[in-house]
Amino acid sequence: MDAVSTPTVRPKPGGRSGLRLLVRNRLAAFGLVLLAVLLLVALLTPLLPLPDPDATAPADRLLPPGTPGHWLGTDHLGRDLLSRLLWGSRVSIAVGVSATLVAAFFGSLIGLVAGYAGGRVDNLLMRSIDLVMAFPYILLALTIVAVLGPGLLNALYAIAVVNIPFFARNIRGVTLGLARREFVAAARLSGARPATLLFGEILPSVWPTIVVTMSTTLGWMILETAGLSFLGLGAQPPQADLGSMLGEGRKLLFTAPHVSIIPGVMIFLLVISVNLLGDGVRDYLDPRLKAGALTAPVAATAVQRDRPADRADGSEGPDPLLSVAGLQTEFHQGDRIHRAVGGVDLVLHPGERLGLVGESGSGKSVTALSLLRLVPTPPGIIVGGEIRFAGRDTLGLSARELRQLRGGRVSYIFQDPLSTLHPLFPVGDQLVEALHTHQDLSSGKARQRAVELLEKVQIPGAQQRMRAYPHELSGGMRQRVCIAMALANRPDLVVADEPTTALDVTVQAQILELLRSLAAEQNSAVLFITHDFGVVSELCDRVAVMYAGRIVEQGPTEEVLSAPAHPYTAKLIECVPVLGESDRKVEAIPGLPPAVDELPAGCHFADRCPFAEDQCRRGELALENIGRDRAARCRKPLWSEA
Ligand code: ADP
Ligand code: MG
Repeated sequence: MDAVSTPTVRPKPGGRSGLRLLVRNRLAAFGLVLLAVLLLVALLTPLLPLPDPDATAPADRLLPPGTPGHWLGTDHLGRDLLSRLLWGSRVSIAVGVSATLVAAFFGSLIGLVAGYAGGRVDNLLMRSIDLVMAFPYILLALTIVAVLGPGLLNALYAIAVVNIPFFARNIRGVTLGLARREFVAAARLSGARPATLLFGEILPSVWPTIVVTMSTTLGWMILETAGLSFLGLGAQPPQADLGSMLGEGRKLLFTAPHVSIIPGVMIFLLVISVNLLGDGVRDYLDPRLKAGALTAPVAATAVQRDRPADRADGSEGPDPLLSVAGLQTEFHQGDRIHRAVGGVDLVLHPGERLGLVGESGSGKSVTALSLLRLVPTPPGIIVGGEIRFAGRDTLGLSARELRQLRGGRVSYIFQDPLSTLHPLFPVGDQLVEALHTHQDLSSGKARQRAVELLEKVQIPGAQQRMRAYPHELSGGMRQRVCIAMALANRPDLVVADEPTTALDVTVQAQILELLRSLAAEQNSAVLFITHDFGVVSELCDRVAVMYAGRIVEQGPTEEVLSAPAHPYTAKLIECVPVLGESDRKVEAIPGLPPAVDELPAGCHFADRCPFAEDQCRRGELALENIGRDRAARCRKPLWSEA
């Protein structure tokens, strides 16, 4: 195994301010600029040298646009259209914004209280909201104005009222989810009062939803104001607003189209700018949208290998089952590049158990997921390296071929079985489905085989447990089901990503033993991912230590444990407590791993290493052979054969 080419792409420096994100979204930026111009003009209208918008001049009726002194022409009473347009826009914007604020305030308050209180209060509030929603929307607004009497202020009330349900329902939904979360329970246990909980703990998390709802309704509200005024129920003559101007121009559509087209275009520009900006704000405030989580998931991680792989040449003996050479997986978020995996080399022989060890965030899971291209794209991209499974390059396989491998010849076990098992199907059905996906079995045969599998993973009463739902099983039981599922199709390789981390120690030992014996029975190789050297020593033949996206040491478990070569490995081993040796020092490793979007030159561990010297912080470090089947990425290994 040899050095791996250095990533050449450098992230651009600089922050990720909200404005930058908005500006990157072209449409939102366009909306922002347009809205800013319109608002600026509206604000400056009183200062501009414009004629009185309400002054009539019968002699100058219906002048066309371009007439000197009346650049946009005049209407049927000879009033200057430019002046009326600007003053009218001010009114429309003011009413729209005010109505939005009123609706957002009351709607959010109702939603927060209903979602938080639940029970009878929720029922009462939501049924009242339903009552309001039972009326056709615009009809209700018309009724309210009819009762209150026409006028701008009354139109504002009407629009605000009919929009309250919109906010109330949205906010209630979000609050409902949050009110039952652990951080709220923790605040409650610390003695916080309901009002503090609601406004101190929940409101900050709901706030983005409120802002997004506001930004997406504002355009709508401006339209509704215009609608009511158009019908003569909003602004009263001679006051101009966009809707009333449109209404007045309607009668002259054929003789003087500019009278209605001009306010129409203004409404269009206002609403489109608000909506485009609103979408941008939503994308900015929802971090999942930024990362691309809501775009349709791709069946396999994108591969853009512009860097040739360094073929692993150090592997001797029989053909390996899996060989990974120079694997590089990155997450591209905006102009930031997170190098989660920066050149990983691994070799796994049939039936072998390899432990992949490293601190949280060192890139173990991303490595494991890259094997069958399960890293989500976007933002994940495999940018370099080669992965050969049973002699074939998995990075070149079609989606169909990958599907056949997944869960078939290669299976995964994850840390949290509750999120891997489907909550709404009995575990038996899920096992049967796993079997059916890769084997041609009759239903009866598949069920029988599923029961056998459950018995194999030592679930008592397997026949009855077939009908149990995941939530009815304990954590250990659920993980046993996942192991059964992973072994169902006699895989050649089982990738187990921290399968025992969520379990208590006694259950952990049982699960490890189970995995070891069952894998041995089927001669399945195991790639076992963990942060715990104690677990590795119980289960694995060989171990690879990972740090900041790279393998820093590799070798047979016994040898690495008794004589670690990399200072990081030594530190990790020191972190494992040993029963009965209470005077042994268990020290945490000082400092934190480097951020993968700003990796330092030289050895990534240098800043935390007690032996680091100047030479460690320079150049590129290769994973070098330091003995038979031992390799380390270190200038001054603690152990070497020489
Ligand atoms: P671990 O060794 O604990 O399994 P991971 O492989 O999950 O670590 O993560 C390695 C790095 O990749 C981390 O810095 C993490 O923040 C980053 N990462 C993982 N998944 C994503 C993702 N979907 N988007 C962006 N970054 C990610
Ligand atoms: Mg992980």
